[in-house]
Amino acid sequence: MASNLLFRILSRELLNIPLPSLFIPVGYATIAIVTTLVCTAKFTADVVFRPNPPTITQPETYDFIIVGGGSAGAVVANRLSENARWKVLLLEAGDTPLILNSIPGLLSGNMYHKDTDWNYFSVPQKNCSYTSLNQKIGLSRGKSLGGSSNLNFMIYQRGNPKDYDNWANITGDKSWNYKNLLKYFKISEDYHGNFPDPLGQYHGSGGPLTISKLRNEPLVKQWVAAAEELGFNITDPNAEQTSTFSPIDTTTKNGQRDSTYNAFLRNAMNRKNLNVVRYAVVDKILMSGKNATGVVYIRHGKKIEVQASKEIILCAGVFGSPSILQRSGIGPRHLLESLKIPVVHDLPGVGEGLQDHVMTVAGPILLNDSVSFMFDDIISPGTLLKYARKRLGPLTFIVVSGVGFFSTSEPKNPDWPNICVFLSPMGMHASFAQDIARLFALERKLLEPYYNHFKGHHATQVFINLGRPESRGSVKIKSSDPDVPPDIDPNYYSDAGGKDIRAMIEAFKFIIKYFTTTTPWMKLGANPNKRHFPGCENFQLRSDEYYECHIRHFTGSSWHSCCTNQMGPDGEQMAVVDSNLRVRGVKKIRVIDASIMPIISNANLNAPTIMIGEKGASLLLQEWGY
Ligand SMILES: Cc1cc2nc3c(=O)[nH]c(=O)nc-3n(C[C@H](O)[C@H](O)[C@H](O)COP(=O)(O)OP(=O)(O)OC[C@H]3O[C@@H](n4cnc5c(N)ncnc54)[C@H](O)[C@@H]3O)c2cc1C
Repeated sequence: MASNLLFRILSRELLNIPLPSLFIPVGYATIAIVTTLVCTAKFTADVVFRPNPPTITQPETYDFIIVGGGSAGAVVANRLSENARWKVLLLEAGDTPLILNSIPGLLSGNMYHKDTDWNYFSVPQKNCSYTSLNQKIGLSRGKSLGGSSNLNFMIYQRGNPKDYDNWANITGDKSWNYKNLLKYFKISEDYHGNFPDPLGQYHGSGGPLTISKLRNEPLVKQWVAAAEELGFNITDPNAEQTSTFSPIDTTTKNGQRDSTYNAFLRNAMNRKNLNVVRYAVVDKILMSGKNATGVVYIRHGKKIEVQASKEIILCAGVFGSPSILQRSGIGPRHLLESLKIPVVHDLPGVGEGLQDHVMTVAGPILLNDSVSFMFDDIISPGTLLKYARKRLGPLTFIVVSGVGFFSTSEPKNPDWPNICVFLSPMGMHASFAQDIARLFALERKLLEPYYNHFKGHHATQVFINLGRPESRGSVKIKSSDPDVPPDIDPNYYSDAGGKDIRAMIEAFKFIIKYFTTTTPWMKLGANPNKRHFPGCENFQLRSDEYYECHIRHFTGSSWHSCCTNQMGPDGEQMAVVDSNLRVRGVKKIRVIDASIMPIISNANLNAPTIMIGEKGASLLLQEWGY
């Protein structure tokens, strides 16, 4: 009896011992090994047991073929297959997501694995990214059913109503204004909220996509109170925000990621009229003159043709969809001719207009109280066990806890902010430099002298995103071979007037002011550290030139790339799709994903893309009758 008690006390103590700092790098390596092993096993089983693609029609003709089962594709496949009379084929290059993808705290560990991530890198950036590996930006994209919703940070934001009113103005189609789009956001939202446990006690089920309201995460109270002191609105992130600071909402359910695979596809896959073919890499669309008739895809080394009687719907994402159009002979003539691809339709906008929320990280803002999230202290065998048993604890945490929107002096419009900032309550755990380098694909050895200096300090970091950039880039295939990745150039800070860099400098300065002049942060001794960011030693700290140097060195993507098949009105030369999302100049092809945005919205893009999926599906239902 006594020995039993002693054993229980001892084991409880042991469970609470923090794992050595080495645990985090070892954790990354373990995730990489497990991902490779599981994906190889799944792939091999598929080759052996399902060498031929499953089919539900003979001959293989479907009403609709959907290419890509990501954030938008999962929604479209779900809605179209609700009509039992329609035969729907969904072709997806990846497989079902791994269990590892469902654990929120593993988000950066799950990135950059070639089996589950397209692992794109940009071309070297001309105006920034001096701390990135070869000046190339890491541009992860999910490669599995659920697409990038399996890799994203799970932050759920609809965006500013003015973003969508602007889309309606650009396209000349009122159906794209916020008032008319709201129903497409709401149709998939199932809100759950206000939880007492600081590390996420999630409740509730039902609804297609579960959105959890996190209100008690570390440092979020200070985040909101300090902003209130400066006169900001304190509202919900999705309360049609203007300038506001608030806690975040996340697409999580019971402590797990709620991907679009989970929310929209998993159950729909049981329908007899929906055929989901995995490991299917779509090469191109088959054309008869200007009419699309089907697609060619490659599966386990075989080329397979399949026909669609109604439409081909591209949901392959911001990089995949323009690449497929270009390989199919639909795109800028000079590009297609240079690659000897027969031109079906000269459409100069395909792949042009790429936008993203370029990002930098301000920090560490040192704190003199033990309030931040120190991975070294809180990851213990007990916390891992707690997640395994109850889906609670640090593994439910997604690295950021608060969001803020505000406007800089250009365009100075508090109702339509151009900056979005995120609070990351991460303290300076031992492997911080390595972790941040991994997340943003930066040169670790450049960062180590800077971040290692603060090892063990409580601190916070702020991710500063340019919400309404002017710079635009492009996506261009380099070959007609679908295995060759395209050239992706986000072309950050390339706008002629230099507005983008000026806005980021002003935002950085505002963040420093916010931490150093507001009572809640002053009480915690908030101190933007006084070391120079590597490469910026020649500039005076806190001068505009210094901030510019920091921003141009530490450049990251927010992974919000979009706008490479822009929607636009008749007569607009660069418009790729009309406001019904039909590809211009050809018949029977639609694009429904983040690539159709005419201009980026100042919000994380998963919610807007899911909305585009719902709106796109409703356009198809209207056109073809239900
Ligand atoms: C690391 C990361 C963090 C992010 N964080 C957030 C966040 O916190 N909140 C937020 O709102 N947004 C976030 N985003 C952005 C958001 O997830 C994406 O904008 C959104 O998922 C894009 O949806 P999509 O349908 O356009 O493309 P995807 O979801 O990328 O789907 C495209 C699908 O098409 C498939 N595909 C591509 N090419 C082919 C082909 N040739 N043949 C067959 N299949 C193909 C892909 O495998 C994929 O499944 C993040 C993204 C990433 C990568």
